[in-house]
Amino acid sequence: MSDILFRARELESYGIAIRRQIHKNPELGFELPKTIELVEKELVSLGYEPVRCGKAGITAAAGKPGRTFLLRADMDALPMKEETGLEFASENDCMHACGHDIHTSALLVAARILKEREEELQGTVKLMFQPCEEGVAGALDMVRAGVLGNPNADAAMALHVVHEKAGTVGYSWTTACASSDVFAITVKGKGGHGAAPHNCVDPINTAVHIHMALQAVNSREVHPDEMLVLSICEIHGGTASNIFPETVVMKGTIRTMNPEVRSFAKDRLVQIAKQTAAAFRAEAAVEFLHEGIPPMRNDTILLQETTGYINRILGEDTCYELPRMTGSEDFSVVSQLVPSVLYWVGTGSEEEGYPYGVHDPRVTFNEESLHKMAAIYAGTAMEWLREHS
Ligand SMILES: [Zn+2]
Ligand SMILES: [Zn+2]
Repeated sequence: MSDILFRARELESYGIAIRRQIHKNPELGFELPKTIELVEKELVSLGYEPVRCGKAGITAAAGKPGRTFLLRADMDALPMKEETGLEFASENDCMHACGHDIHTSALLVAARILKEREEELQGTVKLMFQPCEEGVAGALDMVRAGVLGNPNADAAMALHVVHEKAGTVGYSWTTACASSDVFAITVKGKGGHGAAPHNCVDPINTAVHIHMALQAVNSREVHPDEMLVLSICEIHGGTASNIFPETVVMKGTIRTMNPEVRSFAKDRLVQIAKQTAAAFRAEAAVEFLHEGIPPMRNDTILLQETTGYINRILGEDTCYELPRMTGSEDFSVVSQLVPSVLYWVGTGSEEEGYPYGVHDPRVTFNEESLHKMAAIYAGTAMEWLREHS
């Protein structure tokens, strides 16, 4: 067993206690007062000087001037009622169903190890505790607030739990997961009596044609090798069976692995919606509901290096290749600016007695993975700095 893993194992109950405290008090988006207080207090007690960054982020650093390796953990929960029945279950209507409580506590355990071994660090390790990953806005907010500067991050790594065998570490080459954009199309027609369509402009008929026309973007306009998802998941319009509504609203999401395909699909969405609406004498307005995030880009060299470190820290063949995911992770914003890697750490498979995946109100996690995540965080940063000093 590597010395880092041995120390992380010794700190297991410390990490689990923090994790359960965060788990009991889940908070959402940028509104994380209790979580931030806990993280800051813990960092101060470990000898750090934490700094607020952006709306609700925290950074802290250990080591000495030199190259800088950034470690990211997210802190926000989901707006869903927990149904696990665990003794440390959520005490409010939100839930850490995506495992961010584990990420945050694992990074705190890593922070403790890094502080204990600060003399050995051949550069700086910067810790990034971010809010609002689920709202895909927290990483961008911290980047705009300067998290990647002073000192400049030279490489970055994030870990995320995954519904796989506990303690395994998955990765994907090049793109780990997709971009994400969310849109609303408002189709405006002319309402009126259902028995007199000739006096109206039917926004429902128009919306249906827009929906059908949009299917051509992925099936006919993008190279078959490219992954593109364009899904409409909401359609709202009408109040009665004999009244044409004035408007219909459709909402959906675009996911791709390629920034060029992403901007092409967004442009075509707007063109097809507007021109199809015009063909039916209606109007369409397209709104993108947030800035969206790019695909997560794993740096090939950093991935080769860090899989080597992780296999040394946790044992040969810990790392394995996973198919890329059509879900998204807003650490992708960092990955477009600094060489980065994202790893998926298994926290229990169905065969091991963990039948539910993340975002399920019944999901539970094998807490044995927590100290392994801490060892990966601390050990990878130390190894990378050693090799690049
Ligand atoms: Zn999530
Ligand atoms: Zn998550």
